[in-house]
Amino acid sequence: MDRRKFVKTAGMAGTLGLLAACGSKAGTTPCAEGSSGPITDGVKWKMVTTWPRDFPGLGTGASHLAELIGKLSNGRLTVEVYGGNELVPPFEVFDAVQRGTAEMGHSAAYYWKGKIPAALFLAGVPFGLTGNEMNGWFYYAGGLELYREAYAPFGIIPFPTGNSGTQMGGWFNKEINSTADLVGLKMRIPGIGAEVIRRLGATPVNIPGAELFTALQSGTIDATEWVGPMNDIAFGLFRAAKYYYYPGWHEPGTALECLVNAEAWTALPEDLQEIVATACKAASLDMYADFEARNGTALATLINVHGVELRAFPDEVLAEFKRVSFEVLEELAAKDEMSGKIWASLKAYQDTVRRWTEISSQYFLNHR
Ligand code: CA
Repeated sequence: MDRRKFVKTAGMAGTLGLLAACGSKAGTTPCAEGSSGPITDGVKWKMVTTWPRDFPGLGTGASHLAELIGKLSNGRLTVEVYGGNELVPPFEVFDAVQRGTAEMGHSAAYYWKGKIPAALFLAGVPFGLTGNEMNGWFYYAGGLELYREAYAPFGIIPFPTGNSGTQMGGWFNKEINSTADLVGLKMRIPGIGAEVIRRLGATPVNIPGAELFTALQSGTIDATEWVGPMNDIAFGLFRAAKYYYYPGWHEPGTALECLVNAEAWTALPEDLQEIVATACKAASLDMYADFEARNGTALATLINVHGVELRAFPDEVLAEFKRVSFEVLEELAAKDEMSGKIWASLKAYQDTVRRWTEISSQYFLNHR
């Protein structure tokens, strides 16, 4: 055996020996990742995210979640956060958590439509629930159970973690006066909204947020949606497009998610599991509040400082977006069993919650 091979073999034997020792002293030795012994102390997790590190709302929300878990567990479970591309690319967060490259991820469900068709329904749907209504569905109307069921085959446990509130319709360099103005338009838009504008003659593309400004400025895309004033101002999108359209009909209350590798979850003692679950809920509220508070300030800056022109989509355009959205939703639900189950649940919930919203917050806001 040459020297290099020997060193390699000896190294492996050493590692195996260490793991065996850890397993044989169950309960006394904190075990390394991948071992079978119980983990009770000094657990270190990685969290990969789809967002640039500490990007307002989304990235800061993920960092806040990690910090909360560390503090609530008194350092027994610490989470190191990685921005998009720091450990894995933005759209490989799901794979990384499934493989165990990271124990945790922060992202949005609709990015995983290629693996889980039903994921398109789990972040919220066009003309669907607002953020508040969405939280009601997750926690008190069966949504969370369906969410877990959809991700279970991938060894991933999802937690709703954050909500953007109602998003904006996007940035355009020409006015949208009728659906004819959408024909030939190359627009960045994810999820079901993408399919809707495709059917109306546009070309939807999905690119990570961090690349939007360059793509829009260079003319690679003609239009883009991202989130809302707070996030859009951070990417300087107002420098690359003139008109800022509302409302975000395609994302009326987008839920963000925390993904946890099921094996890593199972290895945690019950109290640390409860800390992770509770921290996700707390971070969820915090992120939603952050969006609500800072979108107003950012909107004022966009209009007053940067001269952005606000436009509402015409009623006829919105009516057409709505008609095609339901056509797409019904088709998707008919093609895939899990999508069908989730869509049925969402529809039943929306039917009952709608009347309440109409006579409470909606009616009140019309008169505030
Ligand atoms: Ca968006």
